[in-house]
Amino acid sequence: MTDSFKKMLEYQKLDMELRKINKEYNSLPEKKRLDVTRNKFNEAQSALDRNASNAATYGAEVERLYVEFGEIMKRFENVEAVYNAATTAEEKAALLPKLEQIRSGAESCRNKINSRIEKIKMLTNECMKNLTTKKKVKEDFDNTKAKLDEIRAKSMPERKRIEEQMKSLEVTLDKSLLAAYNKFRSDGIAPVFVPVVGDNEKDYACICGMQLSQTNKSELKNKSMCQCDTCRRMVYLA
Ligand SMILES: [Zn+2]
Repeated sequence: MTDSFKKMLEYQKLDMELRKINKEYNSLPEKKRLDVTRNKFNEAQSALDRNASNAATYGAEVERLYVEFGEIMKRFENVEAVYNAATTAEEKAALLPKLEQIRSGAESCRNKINSRIEKIKMLTNECMKNLTTKKKVKEDFDNTKAKLDEIRAKSMPERKRIEEQMKSLEVTLDKSLLAAYNKFRSDGIAPVFVPVVGDNEKDYACICGMQLSQTNKSELKNKSMCQCDTCRRMVYLA
């Protein structure tokens, strides 16, 4: 094994330590709780937005209906004036259906206004509930976040130590080897370099459990390294 590869393995060891710390952190129940509360908060926020927007739409309708109601009342007053000025019973009787029609139009308009106002009240209540939920969920989120920050702070010196060691090691590494390593890591492969399993060539296998193919075995013999066909890890001769 070359010195350059030994350094690479040292680097990988540190990287795996860092990965373990991150994995532990990410599997904390608080981490999941944070995601859940974040989703709940977003749900409450979008419900609030939706309800407020619907209330505003009804509000605009009420405004329009009030104008309509005013116009109907004006029409009623006009016809009423004509009715009062009429001198004969026939004339008055002829105006009655018109007055009744306007009156019923006014009533239907008023009913529409009332039903919209009811909806606005209902939506306002919903908005208040959404706000309460938001506040409660936010408190939960903040508490969980504080706990997580505390846990993270505890592992910080260890993380820093590893990161600094990696950094100083990095400059001494073979650039193309490091680039290859980083490529594998970004593909989600970890660890990248693994020692071959088995004492004799006949039994050589990868740590994933797969027996190495004949081609891989000869490549391992010639280049001290081959790639597992199954898990894509780089298998090396220890
Ligand atoms: Zn494998």
